[in-house]
Amino acid sequence: MTTFITQNFTCQHCNHNMYTYELGSYHVYDSEAYSDGYVDYDPPISFNSHILICSNCMLPLWRSELVDDEVDYNSTDSEREQSMDVYDLPLSKKLNFSNNIANYYLGIIKDGFADSIDKEILLRIEIWHLLNNNYRFGSPSVFSYILQGKFKIALRLFKEGNRNSEEDNLNKKLFTTNLKRLIEIYKPENDEEELFLAEMNRECGNFKRAKSILKKISNFEQNKSYRIIKKAIKLRKSRVIKLN
Ligand SMILES: [Zn+2]
Repeated sequence: MTTFITQNFTCQHCNHNMYTYELGSYHVYDSEAYSDGYVDYDPPISFNSHILICSNCMLPLWRSELVDDEVDYNSTDSEREQSMDVYDLPLSKKLNFSNNIANYYLGIIKDGFADSIDKEILLRIEIWHLLNNNYRFGSPSVFSYILQGKFKIALRLFKEGNRNSEEDNLNKKLFTTNLKRLIEIYKPENDEEELFLAEMNRECGNFKRAKSILKKISNFEQNKSYRIIKKAIKLRKSRVIKLN
């Protein structure tokens, strides 16, 4: 059964009163796990992100830092607006929304929104996952939209073709610089996290370093993810891999 807990809070930037849902429990019917730690759930979960967006000033807020408001349900104060998340922002309504959100996260890191290394790690893992979506689900082609009868989208994709290749190059650059910084600041505390660091290095093309990390945690050899990642390092493959 899926249950939600309502949380009332006030925006730290503009004092706007809002509410959000926190997940109590959740029934997952199916899931797909990937080597970069991303799990695609069915039904999808899009509301457990680390940040949410104020529906008034549109600025980001850390979910972990929300302070619960005491609400008097007899007053007008109880009529609150629901907060938004990054998927409600206009930049998320575009075809290339994964890349847009990744760039949005990069922007808020640069603005100092992540005021600790742990928070920067959370956002950089998100950026990594978002940019990997291009390989995870594959970018839909003009042809696939024509087949589905979605001619307007097909035409738009066709027109955007040139601009996209330029954007692709920028995103490839962001993918590498983001992962390099993540490798620099991520400090594993157990074997599972060491495996995660090995995967970062593999996807960055640092096969030697990835291999030496795996050696350190060879007691993990029976683990399925370990074996899949080890094989990919041997073949010098750097793309994200589906694990199940
Ligand atoms: Zn606000």
